[in-house]
Amino acid sequence: MPGNPINQVSGEERRVELFGVPVDSVDMDSALSMIDAMIASGGSHKVLAVNPEKVMAAQADRSIADSLRSASLLIPDGIGVVLATRLLHGRPIRRVAGADLMPEICALAARRDYKVFLYGGRDEINKAAVAELQRRYPQLSVVGSQHGYLDDDQMPQLVQRINASGAQVLFLALGSPRQELWMEEHLPHLSVAVCQGVGGTFDVLAGAVKRAPMVFQRLHLEWFFRLLSDPRRIVRQTALPRFLWLVARTWLYQIFRRPAA
Ligand code: UDP
Repeated sequence: MPGNPINQVSGEERRVELFGVPVDSVDMDSALSMIDAMIASGGSHKVLAVNPEKVMAAQADRSIADSLRSASLLIPDGIGVVLATRLLHGRPIRRVAGADLMPEICALAARRDYKVFLYGGRDEINKAAVAELQRRYPQLSVVGSQHGYLDDDQMPQLVQRINASGAQVLFLALGSPRQELWMEEHLPHLSVAVCQGVGGTFDVLAGAVKRAPMVFQRLHLEWFFRLLSDPRRIVRQTALPRFLWLVARTWLYQIFRRPAA
């Protein structure tokens, strides 16, 4: 649609695919401009993070792949995704962490007077995340919040509440793939312009889970810090070596198939 601000900032060249999962080569500024344009243009847009775990989950489960493919913005969250995109597509992209994007969206919302709703996390975590955002951004209009442990039969009421709140941005913290599947089912009935899947970000905002120290982040070892802090994640993180093996195989295949000059 000409004149649509989303189309002006989108484009085929922004999006690449990793094993059937799209990834957008954006940085924080361009991601925020896109989100601003999405809210201005209305409609309903999903913002999701792509990491090796989700790419591998999408290989095994078509509904996860479909949910990721229908997102308006897929941020490269995870060094594995960044490296794979560089290696297989030659794109010099950088990581945009979902946990960094959410507070930036809140800063934008505070400036622009966009209303936000927080759904997910344990009750005390959800409340503490709201309080922390309001402390950081006093102008931010949080028009509602809800912990993430409702029964399925309470969903119609929740959808009604979110719509009645007039929220333009919904932050969804149910973990993956729960939040992606929730969006598939409920987003068509919601009047929010942007819904971001934020995983465990409310726990980080609430101070219950620590982000990796800067040195780990700089060395791209945030995943390793999270593993050390919570060894139960080892089961989930088996996706990383499987993903890296897939990348290596594909890269070698590309190299050896390339005709000699
Ligand atoms: N969660 C929730 N409802 C559920 C299951 C999980 O609200 O039924 C929340 C949980 O309390 C936590 C978040 O979802 O705040 C999951 O965090 P995790 O770090 O596992 O997310 P991911 O690694 O998928 O980003």
